[in-house]
This record gives sequence, structure tokens and C-alpha cells, in this order.
Amino acid sequence: MKVLDSLQKLRQFQDEIGQMSLGFVPTMGALHEGHVSLVRMSLAHSDKTLVSIYVNPTQFNNPEDLAKYPSTLDTDLAALEAAGCDAVFLPNADILYPEGLKSRSFDFGLLGCAMEGAGRPGHFEGMATVVTKFFELVQPTHAYFGEKDWQQLSIVQHVVREENWPVEIIPGPIVREASGLAMSSRNERLSTTQREEATAIYAELMRSAKEAQPGGETSRWIAQCTERINAVPSLEVEYIAVCDIQTLQPVSSFNPEIPSRIFAAVQCGNVRLIDNIPLF
Ligand code: AMP
Repeated sequence: MKVLDSLQKLRQFQDEIGQMSLGFVPTMGALHEGHVSLVRMSLAHSDKTLVSIYVNPTQFNNPEDLAKYPSTLDTDLAALEAAGCDAVFLPNADILYPEGLKSRSFDFGLLGCAMEGAGRPGHFEGMATVVTKFFELVQPTHAYFGEKDWQQLSIVQHVVREENWPVEIIPGPIVREASGLAMSSRNERLSTTQREEATAIYAELMRSAKEAQPGGETSRWIAQCTERINAVPSLEVEYIAVCDIQTLQPVSSFNPEIPSRIFAAVQCGNVRLIDNIPLF
């Protein structure tokens, strides 16, 4: 596996692979099976696979979250090597932001308004900035994004369409721990008790999803689901939302004709966790 820690090495790798298809998996490191599942998808679909590891400051709206973001580079490199990844790109801020750490501006329309867009001002601008910078530098033919960050995936698909990027965005399903907890690099920051209690997020979303009745009001249902999650000592719901998966706008009543998902952001101690599941 090539470790590309300069633009020169990236260019050399690009020269070597020539016209081959290149699958790209952008990550912020502290890799787990969710990341590796995207790498495996890329290995199966594309001639060559490149993973980037970069903790992007412009997408963090909370300085503590950025400062405490886990970093496990040696184990990350070993996991990527074991998976058969062809190259890992390790840029620094000088490579990605030669003119300083600032976000570009985008029009995400309504996609960026609800949920993470409402709770994390500037997050999607920062994310889209670094993703488009990566697309410019890496020039992938395919890029893989997890459904765990569903809104991020929708926004990346939107930006690619709007800006005519010649890259195909391929979604990967959410990978969960045996307990049901969605895998996340931030899970490493949970205590043993918190990690056990955090399993209630997925469990309650699943239980509540089974109780959703076509035609039923989502607001009462959301209040009940919120109450159940908040009853777990270390958990505090930031939002539970039922949204149309095309528009990411909240729906007021359950309608099996409108493909929708349930989205949640829950604070577990100092760690903010997100998850989502399909309805019906
Ligand atoms: P991150 O390192 O958190 O920025 O995530 C890098 C990529 O991995 C993003 O496309 C995420 O959506 C994806 N990802 C993170 N966790 C999971 C998971 N549990 N299952 C599937 N994909 C994931």
C-alpha cells in the first residue's frame, strides 16, 4: 500500500494508475468496520482504491469535538493494508487549504436546512469544501459514502449533480456493532456504561418504527420515542426526525407512499451520536 503524504506522491500514484478507475473513500481516521466496508466496496468495483485520512477542521462547529477526535494512524494503516487498499492519502492543512482554513459557499437548498444543518452551523459547508477539494486533487471515478451520515451523502450527491463532477457517488449501508450501536469513531470516547446505554438509540428507533402507523401523526410518535431514549441515564435526544429521503424535509404523518427514514442525534455524555433507519 502506497502512503501518499505529499502532492508529489499523489501525482506519482495517479501517473502510475493512468486511465484505471479509481475508487475514493474519504475518512477522518480512527477507522472501524464501517469505513473498511466502504473500502471493500471500492476494491470490488474499482481498479484501484485510495483512502484519505484527514480530520477536517472546517466541518467541526464544536472545538471540543475537534480537539478530542480520536487519532489511531498506525492501526488505521494496518487495517487498510490488511483490507488490500492500494493507497492512503494523508494530506495536511497546507495541502488542502493553501489559502487558509476557510469554507467555500454552496447552495444545498432545503437539503442542508434540517437536522445536522440546523444543529451544526457551518458543518456541511466545511464538509462539502473538503470533499470538493479532495475530488479536485484525487480525481476519483467513484467515491464511497456511508448511509450512517445520510444527510451528508444526500448533500454530496446534490453538489456532484449541481457542479457536474465526473464522479459516481456510491452509498454503503450502516455497519453496526453486535449490540446494534452504529459504528462511529466517536464511540471510542464512550465509557463502558455509556457504550452499553447508547445501544438504546437503535433499539428504541427500531421499537418505535414498528409502532408507526400509516396515517399516524409523526409529532406524537417523536415525543414518545424521545421520552423513551431520554429515560436512559446517559442519553439526551437532540432531535428525532421523520423525513422524506428525497427532500430531507420532515413529514407530518406516516405515509408508506413517501419513502422516509427516522433520523436521530443523541448526546451520550459529551459525545454526540447520530443514527438513522428506514421506515416500513
Ligand atoms: P468519518 O471518518 O466519520 O468522516 O466517515 C468516513 C465515511 O465512513 C463516511 O462516508 C461515513 O458515512 C462512513 N461511515 C462512518 N461510520 C459508518 C458506519 N457505521 N457504517 C457505514 N459507513 C460509515
